[in-house]
Amino acid sequence: MTTHRYTGGCDCGNITVDMEFTIDPASYQPRACDCSFCRKHGAAYVTDANGKVTISVKEKSELRKHRNGSELADFLICKRCGVLIGGVFEDGGGRCATININAIDGNEDFGQPVPVSPKTLSAEQKKSRWQELWFSDVTINGAEG
Ligand SMILES: [Zn+2]
Repeated sequence: MTTHRYTGGCDCGNITVDMEFTIDPASYQPRACDCSFCRKHGAAYVTDANGKVTISVKEKSELRKHRNGSELADFLICKRCGVLIGGVFEDGGGRCATININAIDGNEDFGQPVPVSPKTLSAEQKKSRWQELWFSDVTINGAEG
């Protein structure tokens, strides 16, 4: 299988992201969530259930984990530069993540964002959707504790 590797992160370099996609970026349309939090950030999300993501945080005290809407997922924001990296959802032993297209270098390779409205889903529907679609191979360095 061909994989596509991308890196990214926040603007000041405190948070870096390394991704491996099995999807073809050109034919992938990032999901532009229509909740007010995501719209205010201009965020659209990229996920790949068969891909891989590593998020590394240098200075943990400069990482904000923000909960909004259903308060199920942590949205990772750099306190220093304000960039929204993406969302992480943990349930039992499992963890999945979605990455903001704006935090990815070379994001012009991806298709045009399509609007989505997860706020219309129930908490249970959201969880099962995320577990199905988001990156399931997630490593987070430096953010624990
Ligand atoms: Zn930053």
